[in-house]
Amino acid sequence: MTLRAGVLAVQGDVSEHGDAIERAATAHDRTAEVVEIREAGLVPDCDVLLLPGGESTTISRLIHREGIAEEIESHVDAGKPVLATCAGLIVSATDAQDDRVDTLNVIDVSVERNAFGRQKDSFEAPLDVTGLDDSFPAVFIRAPVIDYVGEDVEVLATWDDRPVAVRDGPVVGTSFHPELTEDPRIHDLAFFDSVES
Ligand code: GLN
Repeated sequence: MTLRAGVLAVQGDVSEHGDAIERAATAHDRTAEVVEIREAGLVPDCDVLLLPGGESTTISRLIHREGIAEEIESHVDAGKPVLATCAGLIVSATDAQDDRVDTLNVIDVSVERNAFGRQKDSFEAPLDVTGLDDSFPAVFIRAPVIDYVGEDVEVLATWDDRPVAVRDGPVVGTSFHPELTEDPRIHDLAFFDSVES
């Protein structure tokens, strides 16, 4: 069965995520059809969703304006998988500590925008991630810090003693950008661990 993967395409690394999803699908002898989401009406037909990085204030404004936000919330309520990376994590959080970001409340965390950024705007770190056999090369770009984690949220990885990958039910959120390496294991973890084959 082909996996229909919606990638929010209002901003961010759309094609890189599409490639990572296809690589992860191939490893499971599956095919993936990537659907770019820019308008309402497409999310309900997707098996999994990807919310990429970018600028969380802009992404939040556009998904509410286009009526996509409610569809993402329904997707999560139905227990279908989502991977939210960097700005995608910020938009998915319960609290973004910034009034300009109207969050989706699908990951029970509070995040501080740009908290890993500023001094060293971008860095790569080998992360131990629950469920992966060896470390994942995580690329952080003006990344958010998760500074509160709700009790139903599983922390999958930490860096500097702070959570940087979490799972809240069907939603996996990362502070870093797993699409910027050739390694599809985070997409695999988010999508294929929880989707029937
Ligand atoms: N700093 C961005 C924000 O606050 C996120 C950066 C990213 O997605 N790489 O929205």
